[in-house]
Amino acid sequence: MKIRALLLLLLIALGGWQLRGEKASIHKLVSIQTDEIYDKLVSTRRGFHTNPELAGKEIRTQKVIAQYLKDLGMEVDTGIYGHSVIGILKGNKPGRKIAWRADMDALPNGFPDKVDFKSKVNGVQHGCGHDVHMAIGLGIAEIMAKNKEAINGTMYFIFQPEEETFVGAREMIANGLFSKIHPDEIYGLHITPLPVGQIMVKPNEMFAYQKRIRIKLKNDLSKEEGRELAKLIYTSLSRSKPNSKPWELQHIVDSKIGLISPNTIYKDYLIMDENFNIYSEKDEFFLEAYLYETNQSNLQSIIPKIKRLIGETKYKDKLLSVTFIPENPIVQNDIKLTTEAINTLNQIYGPDLMAPDYGQVPYFNDDFTYFQQKVPGVYFFLGGSNFNKGIIAMNHAPDFNVDEECIRVGVRSFSSLMIERLNRK
Ligand SMILES: [Zn+2]
Ligand SMILES: [Zn+2]
Repeated sequence: MKIRALLLLLLIALGGWQLRGEKASIHKLVSIQTDEIYDKLVSTRRGFHTNPELAGKEIRTQKVIAQYLKDLGMEVDTGIYGHSVIGILKGNKPGRKIAWRADMDALPNGFPDKVDFKSKVNGVQHGCGHDVHMAIGLGIAEIMAKNKEAINGTMYFIFQPEEETFVGAREMIANGLFSKIHPDEIYGLHITPLPVGQIMVKPNEMFAYQKRIRIKLKNDLSKEEGRELAKLIYTSLSRSKPNSKPWELQHIVDSKIGLISPNTIYKDYLIMDENFNIYSEKDEFFLEAYLYETNQSNLQSIIPKIKRLIGETKYKDKLLSVTFIPENPIVQNDIKLTTEAINTLNQIYGPDLMAPDYGQVPYFNDDFTYFQQKVPGVYFFLGGSNFNKGIIAMNHAPDFNVDEECIRVGVRSFSSLMIERLNRK
């Protein structure tokens, strides 16, 4: 009995060693395969960059993606909504079902482009990095297709149009996306100004809550009085760490006060538009402004606070109502999946890949949130800047540019993560 027990222990130990060995070898292979397809992905990305298409007009983009996925041997569906593409990859055995999402549309910008492969379309640019997102999505698809004998379950690739207008995700769902595919989990990413080589994520909110406030008064105020009232509200409501300027987005990459620091200035704030939209319509006078609040629990006290503030002024009898104009929900990362993803990526690629995130980014959001309302999911920030080369991947900014090495980092890391999610016992 003793010997048997010892033998059993030895077998278990060997088994564990073998499992770790197998695990390591598949990810080593993923890494090699990513290097092999890297140049092709870069040229595919440049093709998207040169031929950007606005929300609702992703015609060439859709064709390229559908063909790429078909060439990988996938079942491809382009009929769910608009110019969407879904690729379905079945593994070796039935099992879990995971979705990866990439967005497709470009921006109505005409900034001077810093790269040689400039946009051929006047006033349209990939200034948010969705060209890179698509290249990474296709790269993950290719790596997983190459390794399909080694994976269980089903992988869905969702290429979603019309993200910038916040229409695509909602419409894909409304048009039956989740009766066609049934993912247990969904993942996606966005290029950010973090350094290339880094991935950042946190559970729950990645962005600040966004609200648009509308104050309705009797139409007895002058524009000047409106501006005075707006200033009072702006000064009383705004909140940030002393001597900090969280509305200046360039600090998000700062090692001392940026997202990565426990002392981040992006942790606890309410940022408000200083310039309210002030106008009158018929017998009514309106003040409107956007605000960005990190703490969900503070949202409910904003309207009473504004009412109280106005109640203490000479305009107290003029106030008719204070309301939020409905705004979109924000990205909410599933706590358990986020924690597991961080652990998995740390285990495979070491501690330098994953950067902690202590803050919430103002102004931005992603309609990926609508998928997360239906399926638990995680949304990552992928570093795209290379400060030594003067490349700063600040989305929507006039000098937005991406270090294409982030394609390698994204494809390698997330192919590994998807394989681990599918093959999980
Ligand atoms: Zn954008
Ligand atoms: Zn974007």
